Amino acid sequence: MELVYDVVIIGGGTSGFAAAVASARHGAKTLVIEENAFLGGMATGGMVSQFMGFADDETFPARGVVGEVLDKLHQHDACEDPKVIYLAGRKEANVLAVSYDSDILKFVLDEIVEEAGADILFHAKYVDAKIENNRVRSVDVAVNGEIIHICAKVFIDASFHGVLAYKCNIPLQEDYDNKDFQPGSLMFKMADVDSEEFLALSQEEKKSIARNGIDEGQLYVETIMSRPTGKTGIHFHNMSRVPNDPTDPVGWSKAEIAARKQVMNISEYMIRNVPGYQNAVISSTGSFLGLRDSRRFTGSYTLTKDDVMEGVQFEDSIAASSFPIDIHPKDTGFSFVKPSNGKFFIPYRSIVCKEINNLILAGRIISADKYAHASLRVMITCMRIGEAAGIAASMAVRDGTDTNKINGQLIGLM
Ligand SMILES: Cc1cc2nc3c(=O)[nH]c(=O)nc-3n(C[C@H](O)[C@H](O)[C@H](O)COP(=O)(O)OP(=O)(O)OC[C@H]3O[C@@H](n4cnc5c(N)ncnc54)[C@H](O)[C@@H]3O)c2cc1C
Repeated sequence: MELVYDVVIIGGGTSGFAAAVASARHGAKTLVIEENAFLGGMATGGMVSQFMGFADDETFPARGVVGEVLDKLHQHDACEDPKVIYLAGRKEANVLAVSYDSDILKFVLDEIVEEAGADILFHAKYVDAKIENNRVRSVDVAVNGEIIHICAKVFIDASFHGVLAYKCNIPLQEDYDNKDFQPGSLMFKMADVDSEEFLALSQEEKKSIARNGIDEGQLYVETIMSRPTGKTGIHFHNMSRVPNDPTDPVGWSKAEIAARKQVMNISEYMIRNVPGYQNAVISSTGSFLGLRDSRRFTGSYTLTKDDVMEGVQFEDSIAASSFPIDIHPKDTGFSFVKPSNGKFFIPYRSIVCKEINNLILAGRIISADKYAHASLRVMITCMRIGEAAGIAASMAVRDGTDTNKINGQLIGLM
């Protein structure tokens, strides 16, 4: 089978979803390829359940695709209003977050993509690409044992592992070589939590319970990271911590199993020791271990730690965020640093590269050092990068321009 599109997006996570919507709305015949049976990636299958990455001076309703997602979630009574949260037990980082129902989000993302007029190919795994004269000509996608050949004028790699950029030999970031990946976490939900009782605990009480749990070998982080998804007694938890190397297929599988063991340990401990959890049960676990980092590529500009800390503004900025540099260590602690200027910016040049003329990167694989990546990797920022990628892709199709020659100022999101 052969399909022909203007714009093809590999991966329908937060960035790929937004790219598909923006590309289709701007007139390009668009297809998003997703190996799961739903859009959203970590936001849905990974069960993250809490959007972060807003700017401190963000106004609501939020603009663009992000605003539409929040609006539709509200219509389904499936998200809370934005509020400043305790990030790992600390409020001074002033992180604004919106918690939501990750199952309803699947439905919301389908609806927005369908309305925008983009096509979706689920159960479709990117496996290979044809590259000629510095352009991607086509990709091969496996569905149910059959290879589908898909041609397009522009490709967006939003796959998190950068499967297409890797095939194109786009250079990896220099600091990628040491394979110093952050630990992953398997998100899980518990039902029948007495939210009122749990939410009455102070941060100090939560930390003290967590310290005992770590001493007993049943907890893995220094606080109880549990938040309600709504008014129903269902809480989501970000409390496992599993070392992993996504470039080692065997080790990656073992990490999935280790993560499930941790979740069983944690939930058992919570039921015995955490006020409000005495009648709680595990209601679901993420479809896969959440990985915080994988490949990062080197584009026309690499966003650095200094750019984030100093809030450097670029002529071609496509997104802004105030999320701290949040690198999860391999032990039980946390360490994050807020940008000193309160806000940082991402330039268009960090989502294109000089080697391939019709490729755009989207989401957390973009050109950034380890520290900048640790700030931009959250979902609101990834959605905004994706939206810019989709607009740029449609501009390249419309004008017959190379993606790496587009004037990022014209994208018009900032
Ligand atoms: C444990 C954990 C907790 C987090 N907590 C938060 C939080 O509280 N708030 C927040 O805002 N962010 C959080 N994040 C970060 C955030 O969830 C991700 O960084 C963000 O969703 C990345 O978006 P993305 O589009 O780059 O990638 P993803 O969401 O990972 O999407 C990539 C998509 O590509 C698809 N794909 C991959 N390979 C292929 C292939 N070969 N063929 C077809 N499809 C493919 C995948 O199935 C997936 O759908 C967390 C991350 C983790 C791991």
